[in-house]
Amino acid sequence: MAKPVNAAVGGTWICCLICESDQFRVREVKLNSFGLEFLKMAWADESATGLICYWCGYVHLFVNRDIELRRVKT
Ligand SMILES: [Zn+2]
Repeated sequence: MAKPVNAAVGGTWICCLICESDQFRVREVKLNSFGLEFLKMAWADESATGLICYWCGYVHLFVNRDIELRRVKT
């Protein structure tokens, strides 16, 4: 399992919506393989960043290239 990271968007550190953990695993998600074609937007080739809560598994999905990631110190 990948090492957990902390993640921030626009300088705000993200906490899990469910369990309030600040530790995530990161996974790139291709939007065009995510069943979103019906939205007919110009992001067919775009990818999103999935932040998967390290503790409860909830996936926070961001279409934002400026997510800041930092290794959790262990
Ligand atoms: Zn969680």
